[in-house]
Amino acid sequence: MTMELVLASTNEHKVTEITLLMPSNLSVIPMSAIGCNDDIAETGNTFAENASLKSQYLYNKYGVNCFADDSGLEIEALNGEPGIFSARYAGSRDMEKNIERVLQQLKGITNRKAQFKTVISLIINGKEWIFEGTIRGSIRNEKCGIQGFGYDPIFQPDGYSKTFAEMTLEEKNTLSHRKKALLQMLDHINKN
Ligand code: IMP
Repeated sequence: MTMELVLASTNEHKVTEITLLMPSNLSVIPMSAIGCNDDIAETGNTFAENASLKSQYLYNKYGVNCFADDSGLEIEALNGEPGIFSARYAGSRDMEKNIERVLQQLKGITNRKAQFKTVISLIINGKEWIFEGTIRGSIRNEKCGIQGFGYDPIFQPDGYSKTFAEMTLEEKNTLSHRKKALLQMLDHINKN
């Protein structure tokens, strides 16, 4: 039997990445498909709090089984910034400016260590579970590649000589933070 899960996101790239990672017996429904185009406020202090706010919003308003992903880039030399502020690090959702700010902050700094983190909140029949995935890497000195979204052009995963934006979506999906968190969620669903 196919299980349906509504995804609390309006980010098309995310929806595509997540849909590609799902098994055929799990159908991901974008929240717009159930008539929700709300900009759900992310007022939490952690990825987990924000993921939870988004899934709880959908569950409370529509009563559907659902999940939400909250993610971002954590840079060691910047004490974990941009972190939960990844989407608006330079003040707006302009990714050119957000990337520019990161590169500016890291100018002259040799420690380029960073990680992407995804936290997923899953709600099934009103009960919530949290899953987490990370991928370690480093921040390049300049942008490279045109695939993907967000900070992909400046993030190079450890063990690779390419940024996420120089990889195909399929390649990024074999190692990404989002994939790791999703695998945990799928494992949980399979066992329950
Ligand atoms: P959100 O709040 O989970 O939608 O994501 C916050 C921000 O983190 C996004 O707007 C992106 O800038 C960044 N981000 C999250 N995941 C990725 C990724 O896989 N690649 C690049 N940037 C990402």
